[in-house]
This record gives sequence, C-alpha cells and structure tokens, in this order.
Amino acid sequence: MKALLHNKNYYSLILSIIFLLSCAPEQNIEQDNVDIQPISSVEKLIEHSKEFEKTIISHETPGGKIHIAIGFGIANSIMVEGDNGNIIIDASDSVYEAAQIYTNFKKLNPNPVKAIIYTHNHGDHTFGAAYYLSVQEEKPKIIAHETTDFYMQRILGIINPIISTRSTRMFGTALPEEDVINVGIGKSLNVSKSPFGYLKPDTTFSDELKLQISGINIELYHAPGETNDQLFVWLPDHKSLMPGDNIYKTFPNLYTIRGTTHRDVMGWVNSLDKMLSLNPEYIFPSHTKPIIGNDISSTLTLYRDAIQFVHDQTVRLMNEGYYPDQIIEMIELPNSIQESPFLSEFYGTVRWSVKSIFNGYLGWFNGNPAELDPLPRKKEAQMLAELVGGEEKLLFALKNAVNSNEMQWALELSDKLLALEYKLEEVKSLRYQALTYIGIRSSNPNKRNYFLTSALELNSGFDTFPIAERTEEGVREISIDTIFSILSVRLDPDKVFNKNLIVCFNFSSGLSKTILLRNQVAAISNNYSGMCDISITTSELNLKLALSGLLNPVLAIASGDIELLPSIFIKVFRISPALSIIP
Ligand SMILES: [Zn+2]
Repeated sequence: MKALLHNKNYYSLILSIIFLLSCAPEQNIEQDNVDIQPISSVEKLIEHSKEFEKTIISHETPGGKIHIAIGFGIANSIMVEGDNGNIIIDASDSVYEAAQIYTNFKKLNPNPVKAIIYTHNHGDHTFGAAYYLSVQEEKPKIIAHETTDFYMQRILGIINPIISTRSTRMFGTALPEEDVINVGIGKSLNVSKSPFGYLKPDTTFSDELKLQISGINIELYHAPGETNDQLFVWLPDHKSLMPGDNIYKTFPNLYTIRGTTHRDVMGWVNSLDKMLSLNPEYIFPSHTKPIIGNDISSTLTLYRDAIQFVHDQTVRLMNEGYYPDQIIEMIELPNSIQESPFLSEFYGTVRWSVKSIFNGYLGWFNGNPAELDPLPRKKEAQMLAELVGGEEKLLFALKNAVNSNEMQWALELSDKLLALEYKLEEVKSLRYQALTYIGIRSSNPNKRNYFLTSALELNSGFDTFPIAERTEEGVREISIDTIFSILSVRLDPDKVFNKNLIVCFNFSSGLSKTILLRNQVAAISNNYSGMCDISITTSELNLKLALSGLLNPVLAIASGDIELLPSIFIKVFRISPALSIIP
C-alpha cells in the first residue's frame, strides 16, 4: 500500500539516486567520496538487520519456559508460560502483528493469556493488545506503570499531529519498503497495517509491584529511562529480566528526533544499576536479541557507563560555559565503550544526546546573547544574500555546494533561499539532492529515514502522509479529558475575536463539561454552573466519534445522536468529517 501510494515519489527518488551515483562529469568528486566511509557505514547498518530476523526464540529457564518473538513488528513480544495460563510482556505494534505473533506462541502453549504487561507507553509495545480480546473469552489483566496512560493520552491527544508526522519521517513508514534498511531497533514500523489496539491498563503501580499470576512470581519495578513510565519485569524464579527499552543493542536513544520530553538520563543509569543488582541470568529485551549468562554483567555495566559518560562530560563542559554545538565537537566516547557492539549509533547518537542533556538542565537558550533573539529567518536570509551580492549568488553557492558534495552546507543554503522564496523549484530540486545524498549514506536509520522522507515531501505530487485507520474501538480508549484538551489547541483565534461564548456539554454518563470562550482562549471547566449560550446533549462516545470523523456531525444531529452541534462550534474548532479533530 505504501509503495502504491508513493509510487511517483519512489520513482523520482530512485531516479535521483541513480542520478547521484551516475558518472556524469560533475559527479567525479563524489565517486571519490563514495567508496570508503559512506558505503561501509551503510553496510554495517545492513548487517545490523540480522538482529531482527523474524524468529521465535525459546529458553528453558530455572522457573519455566520463556518465548520471545523477534522481527514481527518493531518491538519484541515475550510470552512466559505459567501453570494454567501465560503472560505476555509487550503486545507489539499493531493488532496485525500481535495476531502473527500469537499464532506462533499458541502452538507452543495454548493456555489463555492471563495478563499483558506494558513495559511503557510507546505504540510498538501497546498497540497490539486489543488482539487478545478477540481470541479468548476472559479479558487479560493489563498491567503498566501508573503514568503510562497519561503519556499515552498525550501522544493520542494534543501533540498527535506533529508526533505522527515526525514519526513517519523517522521510521520511514512513507518510504517504499525496499528503501528502509531497518529502523535501528526493529525491521520496520507497521502501525499503519491495522487499527491501533491500545487497551487502558487496569492494574497499575507507583514504585514496585509484586504479584503472582498462574503460578509465576512477578516483580515489577518503575525504571525511568527511555521513557518516564518505563518499568522492568523481574521474574526471580526464572532469573530473568525484561528491561523494556532501557537496553537494546544500539546506542540508547537519550533523545529521539521524532520529538520527546526530556529523558532523565541519570534516572536511566540508576535503572540499569538496579537491574545489575539483581544478577539476572537471562535478559529478554523489548528490542534486539536476548542476552544470556556471562555477557550480562559486562554489557549492562558498559551500557550504563556510556550513558553516564555522555551525561557527565556534557555537564562538565556546560559548566565551563560551552554551547551545545561546541560540546558535541568535544565529546568522544572512550574506546572501550565505542568498540562495544552494543553501542553502535544505530538508534541514538552521542551528538543528539548532548543537546538533549543541555536542554534538560538549561532549556533552549544556549547562553549566547547573539542567539537569544536572533534575526527572523527571512531577515537573516536577506542580509546574507546582500552580503554575497544578491540572491542569484546565493543560488550559485548552493549549486556549488551540491556539486562539491558539501551537502550539509547545501541544506543550510537552501534554507535561506526557501525563506527568500527565490526560484523555489530549482532550490527544492537542489535540496532534494542534498537530503537524498546524506540520507542514503547515513548509518543511523533515524537520520537516513528522516532525510529520505523529507526529500519525498519536496516532490510536487506530495500531499500528506497516510493516516492510520480510525476505529470505534480505538476512539473509545481516548479519554474525554484528552478530547477537550485537543479542542482547546484546535481553536482558531481569528474566528473568536472579541467573542465570548459558553458552550455546555451534558453527557448521558452524567458528566458535564463547559468550554468558556474568552480572550480567544477555550477554557475548559468541569464544574461550571452559570448560563450557557449553547447546550449540547450527547454521549461521550458519540462526541468522540463525531470529532474523529467516524460520525458525521450533521447526520448525528439529524438522527438525534447529538442534539445541537452548532455551526459556530464547528467553525471555531475547524471540525469537519473530512478534517477530524482526532487524527
Ligand atoms: Zn520500543
């Protein structure tokens, strides 16, 4: 489907790659550069794909059998056999992948699934859960940290549009399959293959939780790291540890380029120390292969030291007054860490981590007065064009940069020319070449996919990325509070200039919510008791369905499913069945 949707883009990408690798005279310099560094770096990435070859690995541990499904979705799914039921740790990235995995697991042990444990909120660990409702009568317990649903609602809610776009770039989900080597921690992301099947956790905890399910003794520990809600599973009888995403066979993603809140890197180190203290004999990570026996202690130690090294050196140099762009040039991992196969930069990188750590402690201002209120993008471009003798000279410099393979410089110059809106088609075509050149040579799949997808977006035929299918089941799991927070950030301030309006919602559940439009802000109240300009009576589900485009608001009013959803409301929040609120 993806390849079909983007056939045109795909062929132009291929053409561009052929063009870049062709032996036209101006490409000779590039031919010299191609041979050594770039190709070998991509070869290593191709080699790294072996980590995700589709397989089920089974281990007979002291406490019983544990099976791990690798290479189905982006994340692994793990099944632990109990007496008369089994538990699943991480439900994979889609209902489609969960079905593929469970078909295999069931052959190994057909007992029902008694519980699903989410190691954290990310979709590649949670979106397959709903599959298990369809294959057995009893609903499995859904166990997670107490904040997992909060983080999930945020991803489903106000930042969903931008997180979806940036994730599509980073995971390369809009690229033709053959262009994605891997995504660093898995083969590819398949969330678009089927509707998302996240189920809200029904059993949660704060610091630790010990429980027994089907005779399996389970200890869960809150372990902030790759996410704040991360947990690890310790099965003392099995001497087995499931670390979630706090360790996998690549440099850790201390920052993710799809966008994230600050990740607590020293919390991550502490979580790894806690894992070390348990002396596990088996580690079943949620990405890449299990780590067994003697390798465990040295691997965990090296991994936590790598994180602490980057943290400590960033803070040391930060305190000396260096800016992030200077620090990234000054930090180099010690050889002992750099040479570890566990720490190749196939997912996170040291450079992105440094900036994130700086930002985590000091925020976005790097401390340089020149960068507190820099010139607006366009003004800066105008000044630069003036300096070099005009826009045409700037374009000439861009062409030169492309011809001499100074592609990062080419990207930066193309930024200026785009800001000036100068000869846009020509500039875009040069920018396309720069993005593709860097992308196909990048050994970091996040960067590679981001650049190649950004190149696709420059094509004139490009519209928007395909959106994963919405379903009633999926929409049900979005909380009503999330819906109202989405409405607030969808307010078009121009439509409510000098307007005060009070819109009251009375839900059949007994809940009422009010949106008070004032000062071009939509303030949400749970206990408003004054007069309403507009009252809307409906069920929570019908409102969610209408706002997600699954129920046409006009038809819903006609059929009585929603009483009165006035046109002003639809306009103000830019609602239409085609352009729905919930992506
Ligand atoms: Zn993951």
